[in-house]
Amino acid sequence: MRLVVVGAAGRMGRMLIKAIAATEGCTLSAAIERPGSEALGQDAGVLAGLPANGVLVSDDALAAFVEAEGVLDFTAPDATVAFAGLAAQARIVHVVGTTGMEPSHLARLEAASRHAAIIRSGNMSLGVNLLAGLVRKVAATLGTDWDIEIVEMHHRMKVDAPSGTAVLLGEAAAEGRAVPLAEHRVASRDGQVGARPPGAIGFAALRGGTVVGDHKVIFAGAGERLELSHVAEDRSLFAQGAVKAALWGRGRKPGLYAMTDVLGLDN
Ligand code: NAP
Repeated sequence: MRLVVVGAAGRMGRMLIKAIAATEGCTLSAAIERPGSEALGQDAGVLAGLPANGVLVSDDALAAFVEAEGVLDFTAPDATVAFAGLAAQARIVHVVGTTGMEPSHLARLEAASRHAAIIRSGNMSLGVNLLAGLVRKVAATLGTDWDIEIVEMHHRMKVDAPSGTAVLLGEAAAEGRAVPLAEHRVASRDGQVGARPPGAIGFAALRGGTVVGDHKVIFAGAGERLELSHVAEDRSLFAQGAVKAALWGRGRKPGLYAMTDVLGLDN
C-alpha cells in the first residue's frame, strides 16, 4: 500500500516513516511538511533515522495524494481538515491521529468522510481502546454517586489538553452513563470553584519531561476507589496502529471509522 506521511518531520511523523518501512506490503510514497519547513528537500528515511530511501520531503500534498492509496496524519487540527479535503478529492484512506479537534473540525472531517474512508482515533493502541470498553462498562454499572476523574500525563512539548486519549476515555465514561460528555465535562479547576457538581466527569492534565502518555480513570465512591490505568511506553505503538488502520481501510467504503472498528473490538 502506497502511503503518504504528512507532518513527516514531527515526533509522530518520523515514527510513521519507520513503521511503514517495517511493515511488509507498505511503501512510503511521499513525505509532506508545511511550506517553509526546514525539512523540505531532506531525505525522509534519513529524517527518521533510517538509511536514505530517496523520498524527499515536499510541500505539495495534492500531488502526493493522487499518487497514493492512503495518508497518515498526526499534525494539527487546521492542517488535518485541509488534508481531509485533499484526501477526499483523491479518494484515498485518511488515518487521523491528530488531537485537540473542535466540533467545527470534526464537522469538516464528517463531510470529507462522505467521499473517502477516514479512520480517526485519539489513541491508536490496543490497550487504550480496550480500556475505553472497560471504562464504559464500569461507568454503566456504578451510579453517579461514584465520581469519575481522568488524570493524564504527557511530555512537555504537548500543545493540547486534555489529551485526545483522555477525551476518548471521558466519552466512554459518558456513554456508559448515557449522558453527553459536553454537559458534564470539567476540564480545569483553579481557585474557589465550589463543590464538585454531581455527575461531573473531571479531567486533570500534567505535563513534563518525555512522558509518552499515562492515563488513569478514577471512580471515587464513598470509602472506596476503583482505578483503571494505561501506560504507553513507546510512541512506535501509535505509529504501528496507524499503519494497521490504513491497511484495514484499503478498499473500504467512504465513512468515518474508529480504531475499535480496525481492532475488531466489541466495546
Ligand atoms: P509534532 O512533533 O509537533 O508534529 C506535528 C508535525 O506536523 C510538525 O512537523 C508540524 O510542522 C507538522 N504540521 C503542522 N501543520 C502542518 C501543515 N499544514 N502541513 C504539513 N505539516 C504540518 O507533534 P506530535 O507529537 O508528532 O503530535 C502530532 C499530533 O498527533 C498531536 O495532535 C498529538 O496529540 C497527536 N498524537 C496522537 C496519537 C494517537 O495515537 N492518536 C499519538 C501521539 C500523538 P511544524 O513544526 O512546522 O508546525
